[in-house]
Amino acid sequence: MNNKNPGLNDELKVKAQSKNIKKNPINGTKYTIAISSAKGGVGKSTFATNISLALKKLGCKIGLLDADIYGPSLPKLFSINEKPTSEGNILNPIIKYNIQCMSIGFLTEEQTPMIWRGPMVTSAIRTFTQKVAWKDLDFIIVDMPPGTGDTQLTFSQEINMDGVIIISTPQEIALQDVKRGINMFDKLGVKIIGLVDNMSHFIGDDGKKYAIFGQGGVKRTADEFKKDFLGEIPINSDIGKLGDEGMPIVEKDSEHEISKIYLSLAKKIKSVYL
Ligand code: ADP
Repeated sequence: MNNKNPGLNDELKVKAQSKNIKKNPINGTKYTIAISSAKGGVGKSTFATNISLALKKLGCKIGLLDADIYGPSLPKLFSINEKPTSEGNILNPIIKYNIQCMSIGFLTEEQTPMIWRGPMVTSAIRTFTQKVAWKDLDFIIVDMPPGTGDTQLTFSQEINMDGVIIISTPQEIALQDVKRGINMFDKLGVKIIGLVDNMSHFIGDDGKKYAIFGQGGVKRTADEFKKDFLGEIPINSDIGKLGDEGMPIVEKDSEHEISKIYLSLAKKIKSVYL
């Protein structure tokens, strides 16, 4: 199989080659960084929230846009239950933990499924990027839905994207999809800042390191595609527990070993731009 182009369909290729579409910046924002994963459940939203909080702790002004229209996580992960206010047709972001936040989940009931076709998703993304009063941001962190679908295309083609970070777990089945994701962003001309290995290993009570999902797969994939490998985040039950409580680990305890990893990743990301 040709690894450089696995599964990228012709339609995507054609769209990727259409160079005439005008790209818009997100108002009020210096840099737009997407957090992407090929598969769901690999910790993308957990990463997006914690890296936003880590960048904030480094003194950056941060916006967090939950662009996962079908499965928004931000209301739960940041424990936000209110609805955004608006002025005219402009929505005000909800400020939580000193971060400007927006999610489709702020506008719908928690258990209402979003049964939308692609064009409606595209239109929601346009609203969130063009009709939200984002203000004075250094970075807007965009939590993408998993996969290589309409949201990724809309962002890549219509918005000035400054970079994307790809999150994966180390299993082969996840890495296959990561390769598709890398190819998509390369084709669409979006800079890949690097790959992160989430749930890379588990340290037992005996102090031993257990590579539950296999070892080194994300780093190998980064090397294969000549992308930067940003680092590993081990499995730690505090991450899930605090996420469920609505105060992510970096906000709750900046001295936690996991928070220190996030802070060092945030320093790397900040240094790329500021
Ligand atoms: P995604 O956005 O990729 O679907 P989530 O961020 O929702 O994934 O994470 C899926 C689950 O895995 C959540 O319960 C989350 O708390 C948990 N999780 C994510 N990263 C870790 C980690 N490093 N260690 C332990 N649990 C994690």
